[in-house]
Amino acid sequence: MCRFNGRLGVLSLLTSALFTAGCDRPTSEPAVPPPRSASTARSLAGLDRDIRVLLAADIPSCEIKVPGLFDLVDADRRDILYQDAGVPQLTIQFGPGAIAFPELDRVFEVEAVEIVPHSPEPMAVSFEDQRASYAGALTVYRYGENTGGLVNIVDVEDYLVSVVISEVPASFHPEALRVQAVVSRTYAWYQKRMAPPNRRWDLMATESSQMYTGIPWGDGGRQAMEAVRDTSGVVCTWNSPHGERIFCSYFSSTCGGHTQAAGPVKNESSIPPLSGIARCDYCADSRWFSWGPVRTSKKVVTERLRQKYPRFQKLGRIEDIQVVDQTVQGRPVRLRLLDAKKRAIELEAENLRLTVDPTGRELRSTFCTIRSQAGYFVFSEGRGFGHGLGLCQYGADGMARAGANAAYILRYYYPQSRLKRAY
Ligand SMILES: [Zn+2]
Repeated sequence: MCRFNGRLGVLSLLTSALFTAGCDRPTSEPAVPPPRSASTARSLAGLDRDIRVLLAADIPSCEIKVPGLFDLVDADRRDILYQDAGVPQLTIQFGPGAIAFPELDRVFEVEAVEIVPHSPEPMAVSFEDQRASYAGALTVYRYGENTGGLVNIVDVEDYLVSVVISEVPASFHPEALRVQAVVSRTYAWYQKRMAPPNRRWDLMATESSQMYTGIPWGDGGRQAMEAVRDTSGVVCTWNSPHGERIFCSYFSSTCGGHTQAAGPVKNESSIPPLSGIARCDYCADSRWFSWGPVRTSKKVVTERLRQKYPRFQKLGRIEDIQVVDQTVQGRPVRLRLLDAKKRAIELEAENLRLTVDPTGRELRSTFCTIRSQAGYFVFSEGRGFGHGLGLCQYGADGMARAGANAAYILRYYYPQSRLKRAY
């Protein structure tokens, strides 16, 4: 459980003014930033507002275009490795025990190098078939023998604009966009506080954490920017037995009528904000409110299970799937998977879903009926899209259109939660 303590806890006492408009953050950066990612780390009462987002792992190389001059810093020792560099394109190659920068004719025998631009202009990054631009600084680090990872270090409020526009349509009601900004801010802070000390990143740039696509923001950028600005520094908290805490503010696209408790799905203790009691009549307009049927061969189901969970290699082909535990609304939570000899293994329904369809684009939720047919499993009467924990994004939009404000919506989907301006 993430504790709303330390510096963040102290800051939570500064003010409880919620949803105040205005953004007084500086827009210009120092000409030559000191080592550390100070190009983006806007210090406020000592609060480190940088979020570290994993853009890529296990890549052999990448190219970065940095506008203007930049410094290279040993990310661990904070030594400046190269000052005032300025090349049109920077290639980074990962090798055994070192990271090479051919355009600078340098090879550094370090674990990680931070690229700190002097200008606040975004850097263009390309690796494999991906291209995007990012504000802030970048860290490249050694990952395997000849591969590395790429992390964007960015101010959380800048990060959130991209997340909001990547997570929900700009056509959402402005109150629903504010809801998403608060939820994504809370989620990001939670992940930052929970990141293992030796890990170089807080969140992934994908749906595994929350979507982050960098700059430009494209259509809807203005709306997302306003939603982030209007809620600047506001997070969701709850009164835990140990005091006020932020929590892992799960969210998903469409709950299909009811959200579910996070505890059994995520193997963690249930807390009131994630108890999943919200009945949601507001996501019925989502195109994913109902779906199916989806047919998947038993051969494919078995192969994917064996690949992800080696214990399934002890069983023959999975022939039957029974519901062990379900919500009162009938959403399967835990399943028993059996082979022809009735040997069985139990698995969380959400884990089966993401194993059978890792994209989540066909088998959109566990809120469905599973039937066994000759050679196939049929997932029918499907409802909703996503895990159904916490906030229902389309439900938030529906509630906003019905006249609810962001504070009301957040308390509805996260029972007993409250809003706190953390900075
Ligand atoms: Zn819903």
